[in-house]
Amino acid sequence: PYDLLVVGGGPAGAAAAIYAARKGIRTGIVAERFGGQVMDTVGIENFISTKYTEGPKLVASLEEHVRDYEVDIITEQKASKLRREGQVEVDLESGATLKSRAVVLATGARWRQMNVPGEKEYSGKGVAYCPHCDGPLFKGKSVAVIGGGNSGIEAAIDLAGIVKDVTVLEFGDTLRADDVLVRKAKSMPNIRIIKEAATTQVNGDGERVTGLTYTDRATGESHDVDVAGIFVQIGLVPNSEWLKGDLDLSKFGEIEIGAKGETSMPGVFAAGDVTTVPFKQIIIAMGAGATASLGAFDYLIRESVP
Ligand code: FAD
Repeated sequence: PYDLLVVGGGPAGAAAAIYAARKGIRTGIVAERFGGQVMDTVGIENFISTKYTEGPKLVASLEEHVRDYEVDIITEQKASKLRREGQVEVDLESGATLKSRAVVLATGARWRQMNVPGEKEYSGKGVAYCPHCDGPLFKGKSVAVIGGGNSGIEAAIDLAGIVKDVTVLEFGDTLRADDVLVRKAKSMPNIRIIKEAATTQVNGDGERVTGLTYTDRATGESHDVDVAGIFVQIGLVPNSEWLKGDLDLSKFGEIEIGAKGETSMPGVFAAGDVTTVPFKQIIIAMGAGATASLGAFDYLIRESVP
């Protein structure tokens, strides 16, 4: 058995594993894909102390850093069940069970996609999911935000300060964002809001996004909007389905955590995008991974030796 088993190999999991290994405890990391969302990221400009890097490059140095320590790295394995039987047990889809005195869950999240033609093709070439990350790339240009919930309207307000103008497309006939955000957005002259708009296609010139097509759901008419960027803000889904019923999750499915990353199950800690942490960023996930790992270490030194 491990002293600390980390589930997830993104920035949160990598940080948790390094912090644990540096305490000299038996550490393992199990992940479906090492690197997580960072593997899908093109340019990264907000990883503090590094002016510019790219996802796969950052993942390679994360892996190199983890491998510098005695950490058991198990990849291409998906956790399917968590349970406490004296120690913590994690079942894998392959049928194996890993045992550990403490666990850090860092299974991350995934952006909900529109699933329309062109979205995948132009991902990272104008189709973006993170305004904090990619907003500045569209300085002075026209962009669209898909989704009129809190994240969509927040993104529009944020982007409006950087870009030329923002067109928000909401599928429903009302905006689901908080009233104060809607009022703020409506007060900004370079934000236009279109409701009952079903985005049907991302358009591009083969290299980059040039616009999108949407159907007006009230009239059935199709319209084109010329934009250089499309921010898809229709939800971030935590990878926590396998924990339902065993851990306290928020209404969005995020793992509820305390200040040390502790969850509702003793000995189980969590970090990063899969948790209730309010902001989902690489640097925040790394800090959270370190916190959860130190929280777990704190737990281990107080726990009676089995
Ligand atoms: P993740 O990176 O999601 O990693 C989750 C890990 O858990 C992976 O290893 C995955 O394989 C594994 N996993 C999931 N489920 C299971 C399971 N059941 N069993 C075993 N393993 C499992 N942030 C920035 O700060 N700057 C940026 O420029 C930036 N750009 C982004 C661009 C894109 C396209 C995307 C999608 C995100 C971007 N982000 C950016 C956000 C950033 O990538 C995330 O906040 C960060 O990766 C979260 O780290 P994490 O470790 O919590 O989760």
